[in-house]
Amino acid sequence: MKMKSYYSIFIFAALFAAVACNSKSPNNKYNAMEQQFIDFVKKHNTVVEPLYKNLTTAYFDASISGADEDYNKAAVYELELTKVYTSAEDFAVLKKFVESGEIIDSLLKQELNVLYNAYLANQADPVMLEEMINLATSIEQKFSVFRAEVNGKKLSDNDIEDILSKSTMSTEVETAWKEAKKLGPVVADDIIQLVKMRNKLAQSLGFSNYHDMSLRLSDQNPEEISRIFDELDALTRSAFEDLKDEIDVYLSKKFNVSKDQLMPWHYQDRFFQEAPKMYEIDLDKYYAHCNIEKITIDYFASIGLDITDMIANSDLYEKEGKNQHAYCISIDKAGDVRVLCNIKPNSKWMNTMLHEFGHAVYDKYIDADLSFNLRDPAHTFTTEAIAMLFGRMASNAVWMRDMGIVDASEAAVIAETGMLSLRLEQLVFSRWAQVMYRFEKAMYENPDCDLNTLWWDLVEQYQLLQRPPKRNMPDWATKTHIASSPCYYHNYLLGELLASQLNYYISTNILKTEDYMHQSYFGNKQVGEYLIEKVFMPGARYHWNDMIEKATGEELTAKYYAMQFVEK
Ligand SMILES: [Zn+2]
Repeated sequence: MKMKSYYSIFIFAALFAAVACNSKSPNNKYNAMEQQFIDFVKKHNTVVEPLYKNLTTAYFDASISGADEDYNKAAVYELELTKVYTSAEDFAVLKKFVESGEIIDSLLKQELNVLYNAYLANQADPVMLEEMINLATSIEQKFSVFRAEVNGKKLSDNDIEDILSKSTMSTEVETAWKEAKKLGPVVADDIIQLVKMRNKLAQSLGFSNYHDMSLRLSDQNPEEISRIFDELDALTRSAFEDLKDEIDVYLSKKFNVSKDQLMPWHYQDRFFQEAPKMYEIDLDKYYAHCNIEKITIDYFASIGLDITDMIANSDLYEKEGKNQHAYCISIDKAGDVRVLCNIKPNSKWMNTMLHEFGHAVYDKYIDADLSFNLRDPAHTFTTEAIAMLFGRMASNAVWMRDMGIVDASEAAVIAETGMLSLRLEQLVFSRWAQVMYRFEKAMYENPDCDLNTLWWDLVEQYQLLQRPPKRNMPDWATKTHIASSPCYYHNYLLGELLASQLNYYISTNILKTEDYMHQSYFGNKQVGEYLIEKVFMPGARYHWNDMIEKATGEELTAKYYAMQFVEK
């Protein structure tokens, strides 16, 4: 559903970059401790900046060439860079700065926080870290070699998804679903062991468990995140109940069973994380003759964001051996921002180009005068939010009309169905994200609890699915993110919430319209100015929630997401 971006791959690596602190003042601006910290940062950055640039360059080259030697080069730089952050001496110095309470200047304080967290994450016992990496690798391997077997035929995940979404026979989808879930017992014990190791690591660094650590090290207070998820639950519950009923009516017709006979295998994917295709809408035909690259350039230019320099450095079309996905990467945190895509003239790639260049404009316009450790988005989810805000345009009828992709009458046809399917997608995804967030939180709090029951309790509570009778299997273990990208999933949803909050603010305060549902921002350069000044420029200078409050007048809230996708 979401394109994996570079940001989500290197959560901690994304904190790096360097250059001397701006010595903008004579010595008397800073106290002695602050001056020491500034010297520390200077030294740190001299080491880290070139390593970071080598790593990002090698990684970008490798994903284009696909050559082993390029990937190996990237791996070596990554290891070297990580090693910087394992230094116990440096960490002790940082700790001294923190404990002194004398780093008072707000920018220095924020930079110290960023550096301290980056080092803290790497202070664990190296033996423990290596054991964890080995176990995680072996789990990953089990995931990749597992094939569900149906009627003696080995099926890939794509094959399974194909059966689940296309078949109209209950027995067929039930078999496919149950066979796919046989992966659970293959990996569950290993995952529980990994969870316990992660907890041990977190506890060795002073956190109550790994979930707690992951959130806190990325400046998220677990209570605050839970509060937002509760708020969203309350706002979406009743609309989702209605929508779920519509889905059930549709599926019971499709499978010719009564609604109370509908089981998880009827919901068209393995987790009910994506919406069943209830509405007929084919956007691809409108994009079949479009120049996706040119539309992207023209659109961003129309709102005052120039991407031509980044387009020139990017690699946008298919090549042999090239990475088939898409991501954006800031090579040097000094303006060299590149995007990797594999453009085809269809709506998915229109969405992806707008998404990735959303990341790119964020990176490009981060204040170049900031110290390099703060030259990052406020949080990974804030850059996802910008990417989603623009990515959503690809299925927005008003945007398609403004960009000349469809005429007014076609736009009117798309508008209604487009809105309904976006709403369906968002509601289904948001209920699924609730399950993921709450399951991971509870699992790290107590890995010895009855996880099989916990999983189905949450699925029933939030997704309103019926648990298969007497089911007692580790179905939770078949979701790859639980092993491979722990405690990260909630950020996708936070990104969606912020995208809606920004859209509402832009519509109301810049476009001066109450119609926040049908805006493309096309041709309004003030939108770009606003984003540059309030969202991009600050980089990581403030805590993410302070940035959001300064930009929209409110801290992050689920309210606007609900207004956009819940209310009809
Ligand atoms: Zn992204």
